[in-house]
Amino acid sequence: MFYFFFIPVKLSLRLLCSFLYPQLHAPPTLPQFAFCEGAYFSFEHGPCVLVSRKLPPPQRVYTMAHELKHHLADRNEMIAFCHEANVPAQIEIGAEVFAAELIYPEDEFAKYFTEKNIKSGACTAEDIVHLKHSTDTTLSYTSLAKRAERMGFALKGSLPKVGWIKLEENLYGEPAYKRINRYRQFLALQHRVD
Ligand SMILES: [Zn+2]
Repeated sequence: MFYFFFIPVKLSLRLLCSFLYPQLHAPPTLPQFAFCEGAYFSFEHGPCVLVSRKLPPPQRVYTMAHELKHHLADRNEMIAFCHEANVPAQIEIGAEVFAAELIYPEDEFAKYFTEKNIKSGACTAEDIVHLKHSTDTTLSYTSLAKRAERMGFALKGSLPKVGWIKLEENLYGEPAYKRINRYRQFLALQHRVD
């Protein structure tokens, strides 16, 4: 589930991401890390990062950005285990904010609302889906919704906590990969019947 390796201290984000992206022949999962999305260790001989290979690609990118914050700002902490239960911790909140800003800066986010002439407090769930679709940001719907409420574009508590993918499919149709998967399953079934 995880891959485990050491990285030199001075690496660009691009290099960091290319190294961190899960490799095909990564070592087997360490059961004691199964609950983590990622982790950061600051060892004497260099930093070490874990990223769960169970995460879908957008969340892997997010976790990599999250671990980069630990690398840049929290090296004195030695160890950071990153999972949902840890998020209330100050160090984890900082990493979440850093990752969101790195992936989709707030300035760009605010610019979108200005360009679309969406006034303060008027942002709807549909607006968030249109934003994600037109900008191609990998930031999750949950993060985008939280940010819209925090920055005042949407009223507090007005945006849904779940159901984003269904709403996206209502507005933009079923994604191609789902249709292809269904067609493959149909072909496999036909093959078995023949
Ligand atoms: Zn963390």
